[in-house]
Amino acid sequence: MDIKNNLSEIYSSLPEEVKLIAVSKFHPAETIKKAYDAGQRIFGESRVQELTVKQPVLPKDIEWYFIGTLQTNKVKYIAPFISMIQSVDTLKLMREINRQAKKCNRKIRILIEVHVAEEESKHGFSPDECKTLFTDGAPTQFGNIQVCGLMGMATFTDNTEQIRREFGALRNLFNEIKSMPETDKSTFTELSMGMSDDYKTAIEEGSTMVRIGTAIFGVREY
Ligand SMILES: *Cc1c(COP(=O)(O)O)cnc(C)c1O
Repeated sequence: MDIKNNLSEIYSSLPEEVKLIAVSKFHPAETIKKAYDAGQRIFGESRVQELTVKQPVLPKDIEWYFIGTLQTNKVKYIAPFISMIQSVDTLKLMREINRQAKKCNRKIRILIEVHVAEEESKHGFSPDECKTLFTDGAPTQFGNIQVCGLMGMATFTDNTEQIRREFGALRNLFNEIKSMPETDKSTFTELSMGMSDDYKTAIEEGSTMVRIGTAIFGVREY
């Protein structure tokens, strides 16, 4: 895998305002270092145990984004250093992130994960639940988290029109929440959608952050 070459190809295909999260889950620190040396600074991980092994041995100016299922009892291990938690799918998790952030005397940026894919998934708020979360003022009741936007995944399918429809639904929800009077428009700015196979469609549908693993690092060995 020519990581440097893969990265430069992706960089050149991204509009300037779209951020790249290099999804490094299942890849060792040495591999991440190659992407770092090619200029990449934002990395996405999905398992606490893995992240807490890699983080101490890699450069301190890396911004780590958590993108996987997060159990409340593990928040404390990443709270001291995590830049953003993208996969917040329950109020209970939000509360715990706030509690741990407070202990570390920091404010942790989060995204709310929304389930827009037609395929079944256990994760994410439904669009209606997500709206209710905001109208109830949940994001503003916690002093140590900042709700920066929404995250979602499309169905795993070759049907581009379906993928487009799902990303479009997430963008519409994002815009609707952004226009609510209770939403802080200056900080509610991020729409994280798009992976290796569908990021171009996601960008066309308004993504501000793409999460790309395979197209940078190659196929993961589980
Ligand atoms: C693994 C993962 C990705 C990256 O997927 P690729 O297809 O390898 O680009 C993106 N988002 C989430 C939430 C993931 O778990």
